[in-house]
Amino acid sequence: MSTIARTTSTDERTGVVERHGSVLLHDSQRYVREAAAMLEIDSSLFNLIDQPEREVTVTLPVELDDGRVEAFTAYRVQHSRVLGPGKGGMRFHPDSDLDEVRGLAALMTWKCALLGLPYGGAKGGVVCDPSVLSTGELARITRAYANALAPFIGAHVDVPAPDVNTDERIMAWFLDEYERRVGRHEPSVVTGKPLTLGGIPGRGESTGRGVAQITMAMLEKQYIAHKSATVVIQGFGKVGSEAARRLHELGVKVVAVADVSAALYNENGLDIPRILQSVQCQPPRLLREYGGEDAQMLPPEAVLTLDCDVLIPAALEGQITASNADDIRARIIVEGANGPTTADAEEILNRRGVEIAPDILANAGGVVVSYFEWLQGLQGNRWDLATVRKMLDQELRNAFDAVLRETERRKISMRQAAYLIAVERVAGAVSLRWSQR
Ligand code: NAD
Repeated sequence: MSTIARTTSTDERTGVVERHGSVLLHDSQRYVREAAAMLEIDSSLFNLIDQPEREVTVTLPVELDDGRVEAFTAYRVQHSRVLGPGKGGMRFHPDSDLDEVRGLAALMTWKCALLGLPYGGAKGGVVCDPSVLSTGELARITRAYANALAPFIGAHVDVPAPDVNTDERIMAWFLDEYERRVGRHEPSVVTGKPLTLGGIPGRGESTGRGVAQITMAMLEKQYIAHKSATVVIQGFGKVGSEAARRLHELGVKVVAVADVSAALYNENGLDIPRILQSVQCQPPRLLREYGGEDAQMLPPEAVLTLDCDVLIPAALEGQITASNADDIRARIIVEGANGPTTADAEEILNRRGVEIAPDILANAGGVVVSYFEWLQGLQGNRWDLATVRKMLDQELRNAFDAVLRETERRKISMRQAAYLIAVERVAGAVSLRWSQR
């Protein structure tokens, strides 16, 4: 079995294959349109904030270990840079395509604006399957990508970071290649770097820590005592595993976790530190290789519909759709992944009273700490873990409170409120920039 999940699904009735990336793009445009209507933004201004600013598609010729040269397609989309340089991760995935990258880049614009960060939104994708590539091949693809993107990125232009199937090792190769090419140190051209190359303590845990914090805030909002709450997490990578670690540490019962290979379930709560120890080795293991007898093994897709208070989808987009929304039994969804819930599913869930903490709020911890790392690089500074955590917690609390205030004031969903705040900020900046040009 491949360790890479597909980002397409087939409608059982029509047989039509739907690409999750296109749905994500379509849905995020729909949320922006709704926010623009509430804010009475006219159509010309709407077009300026909706359309991506720049899209780069490149072909990377890379030599494989057997001597063949293969052409890999790669993208970088800069959706908006009106509030600051583009910011967003790079994903290595066989199903990555331009629509997916477009949608993810747009999400970054709204996420950064919501958090009040001085960034626009961008995203990158390389169409490759890391599970069948050697370390050398992965490094050569990364270096080729850095070379191809070098004219379009920079600490004040567009700043990539890790995402699905990319990590600090890949950021180190990327940084090295970029700096060799431009002939100077520029650590702030990427975030999510190893500490010795200018990384920041706490970047690795930041998205998951933020997801855990938003989960706690949602439980409080719903008057559910966290010690009696049950949580299910889909995705056990950088985001899902750190969310599980933090929630367990805070005394919340994580009853199920899943990766692409399997789900582990225990209705009394999983031993998360033991599971983490079992999978986070070199090379990393999958959950299906967990040998502990304290957990029941289920197919990965089973987690979405388990009985629980909070469901945290932290794998890929398009997991909760109109086909399974009625079967979701959680009372709260905290979106660790980008775009895990389709807009059609959200309508069903809203009707059923399921509360959703939207991705642009719930998984923003990573970009907040990326911002600290970027600042650290620009200033030649060093921050310690305690300071980073304290500042992250405060930024997320402020954003959560702002979303809640807007939700209550206008009687709208948390996603609508989050988009409203973000779109208002971006539209305001566009109006100022484009006047009297
Ligand atoms: P990752 O590659 O580290 O982990 C992805 C995990 O999802 C893996 O455990 C994989 O096995 C699992 N998975 C894939 N398909 C699955 C399926 N069908 N069922 C169950 N598990 C499945 O990626 P990540 O960095 O943790 O990113 C996860 C999501 O969070 C993505 O949507 C990403 O865009 C988003 N995100 C990541 C960050 C970050 O800082 N890494 C920040 C914000 C948002």
